[in-house]
Amino acid sequence: MTTVLVIGGGFAGCCAAHLLSKKGWKVTLAETAPFLGGGCKTFFYGGHPYTYGPRHFLTQDERLFDFLNQYVPMRRIPGHEFLTYVERDPGFYHFPIHRDDVALMPDAQQVEQELGQLNGVEGAHNLEEYWIRSVGPTLYSKFIDGYSRKMWQISSNTEIDDFAFSPKGVALKTGPTKAAWTEAVSAYPLKINGYDDYFDIATRDTTVYLRTKIEAYDIAHSRVKINGEWHTYDVIVSTTSPEVLLNGVFGPLRWIGRDFLKIVLPIEHAFPEHVYFLYYANQEPFTRIVEYKKFYQYQAPTTLLGLEIPSFSNKLYPYPVKKDQAIAQRYLDALPENVFSIGRAGSYRYIDVDDIIAQCFEMAAKLDIPVPQV
Ligand SMILES: Cc1cc2nc3c(=O)[nH]c(=O)nc-3n(C[C@H](O)[C@H](O)[C@H](O)COP(=O)(O)OP(=O)(O)OC[C@H]3O[C@@H](n4cnc5c(N)ncnc54)[C@H](O)[C@@H]3O)c2cc1C
Repeated sequence: MTTVLVIGGGFAGCCAAHLLSKKGWKVTLAETAPFLGGGCKTFFYGGHPYTYGPRHFLTQDERLFDFLNQYVPMRRIPGHEFLTYVERDPGFYHFPIHRDDVALMPDAQQVEQELGQLNGVEGAHNLEEYWIRSVGPTLYSKFIDGYSRKMWQISSNTEIDDFAFSPKGVALKTGPTKAAWTEAVSAYPLKINGYDDYFDIATRDTTVYLRTKIEAYDIAHSRVKINGEWHTYDVIVSTTSPEVLLNGVFGPLRWIGRDFLKIVLPIEHAFPEHVYFLYYANQEPFTRIVEYKKFYQYQAPTTLLGLEIPSFSNKLYPYPVKKDQAIAQRYLDALPENVFSIGRAGSYRYIDVDDIIAQCFEMAAKLDIPVPQV
């Protein structure tokens, strides 16, 4: 029987195990943490459910929504809004930037003038040029410049030159709704444990080893060392960084992570009714604040906020920079045909849960496993 090792039990590892075990293969999953789900695992603090970061489900592909929805029924959240705090105005404005909010700004005339002179994004070489061409220099400096430099811990956004990473977004919205992502399905699991049931369902036919560290990799021979012993597999699906698999042979990949702070407030709701999270584009150390009640929709006299602070203490965001992507590609190109490197870290792409499921479908198709029909 074909043997498969899945490295990592986050969304990517669980979804891969789910599809591969359907083929009747013998699937083993190794996860370093004591739980499945990775970044999408729901934890509880004082009775409040939370994940590390928002992790809501966004997709332009209904098929991906339908796939997940059959395992973890979800509610659609079409009207949710995000706000950005602009200290210098000072004020909160919608993000994606809404055309109507310009009139509320103290420098509305200047912004209007700049919007009237836009010539299109064609030919933009980096994130800074893209945004200035999309919304003009003033809106760029209010919403994007400080936020993005803080997010990536860089001195200039000209460094971000592989910036087609937010296909669901639009630079400047118009129209009656201020909601974010109206171009995509936006949803969240109905149950208080979020996506967790999926991780159990997906690994039902898989042998799962939690708290398991892979001590060494010999990818050329499809084997890994666990507890001092080498184990060989027919197929390996890895969701860890490809540099780990190949022992850093092409040099280090750059990553940025997050430290997460939780704060319970003695009020039932902290944010305005339709606002799900807040972006901070100024000198504050945090980038984003999430009110988890919005996603999980439960009753409690208090509410939980999560703050995200850019950090180098973990590896959560691969850099959307061509030279970093090129190093990652060298690693991916060097993998044998029976080794798949998927997920956010595995593919070194700034991708979301829907993209992860799509990647698993793609891998399944390559292995002649029928993509699930829903
Ligand atoms: C702060 C934040 C907010 C986000 N918000 C959203 C959102 O709102 N919507 C959305 O769709 N996406 C969001 N994402 C992205 C989405 O959560 C990720 O794309 C998705 O969780 C990635 O799944 P994964 O399995 O690749 O990685 P992870 O969830 O990181 O899981 C990887 C797992 O592999 C394990 N692992 C790593 N190395 C090894 C190893 N060597 N051996 C064994 N186990 C290992 C880890 O312990 C972990 O459990 C967000 C991401 C972040 C960081």
